[in-house]
Amino acid sequence: MISPDGEALLPGGNDALHYPDLPVPQPGQMLPVQEGLWWLRMPLPISLDHINLWLLEEPGGYALVDTGMATEAARAIWDQLSNTVLAQRPLTRILLTHLHPDHVGLAAWLQQRFAVPVWSSTATLDLLRTLLVEPSAQILAERMAFFAGHGVEPIEEMATSLRSKGYRDSVDGVPAAGRLMLDNDLTQIGAREWRWLETGGHAHGHLCLYAAQPQPVLIAGDQVLPTISPNIGLTPLTPDPNPLATYLKSLERLSGLDATTLVLPSHGRPFVGLAARATEIRQHHELHWAKLIAACSTPLTAFQCLPFLYRRQQRGFHLFLAMGEALAHLEYLTTAGQFARRVENRVTRYQRLN
Ligand SMILES: [Zn+2]
Repeated sequence: MISPDGEALLPGGNDALHYPDLPVPQPGQMLPVQEGLWWLRMPLPISLDHINLWLLEEPGGYALVDTGMATEAARAIWDQLSNTVLAQRPLTRILLTHLHPDHVGLAAWLQQRFAVPVWSSTATLDLLRTLLVEPSAQILAERMAFFAGHGVEPIEEMATSLRSKGYRDSVDGVPAAGRLMLDNDLTQIGAREWRWLETGGHAHGHLCLYAAQPQPVLIAGDQVLPTISPNIGLTPLTPDPNPLATYLKSLERLSGLDATTLVLPSHGRPFVGLAARATEIRQHHELHWAKLIAACSTPLTAFQCLPFLYRRQQRGFHLFLAMGEALAHLEYLTTAGQFARRVENRVTRYQRLN
């Protein structure tokens, strides 16, 4: 199953993961995770019903990681926090992991309210700006041609998805860019020194934050989640031609972090067991590869591959996400030399080699 935010539910247990005994905050509640590090939960109006935000204490207030989606419920929570917890210790800066609406939705709104800088990657802010503009007829036609060229038959349904205002309705404006962060940049926030790790694949320009001291902590964004596998998609909106390779490389890098690292994911509960979770997620993608290798003994379009990957027929926005996932896996296998890609009459088909 894929949620509207683009995360696929992974079957199977997570026996190798350890969940520290931390109470889970109610929506709008802030609870401590460690000294100077707070967990705030925000409601989401989708099947994935919450996002975790993190507040890092520093002199003068809190640095906030991600903002929640631009909904009335989230704004009401920020109103309430502004009059209580944040009245004496306001936000000092906003750090964004990636461009998805549950992460950046209220960045511009909060920036105005607290007059604070927004730090993120150049790619995150560029894509945010692009997605907030209504696409022109020409751009829509190009995007439609992309999916038609990959065999999508319910093309009108895809057109509706591409014209959807979903992103624009969930994100309240473009924040002014503060510092633009690069891989391995270091930022002192209160008692911790955080290292920014660029970890693409799920979202171009995705950043995680890692502090080795006093105890190793990773603010993971959507890169590693405990019970769902982040959507990895190749679509006309993705600047990365091989997002699955980028993603798997980042998983390998994250697996090399301290084994005791407490992972703070954007969805679900904080956990320890980063390398084990990375292995599970990799196995999920290996399973997709195996299904595609079995299916593509004859040339198939990405659309024709969908029934081999998903039991249910994908509709609407889920069709968009499923096409992205299928293409990410097919392109990975093609670049790895296991598949051939042929274009005939503007339609692309994939076939396994030998
Ligand atoms: Zn995301």
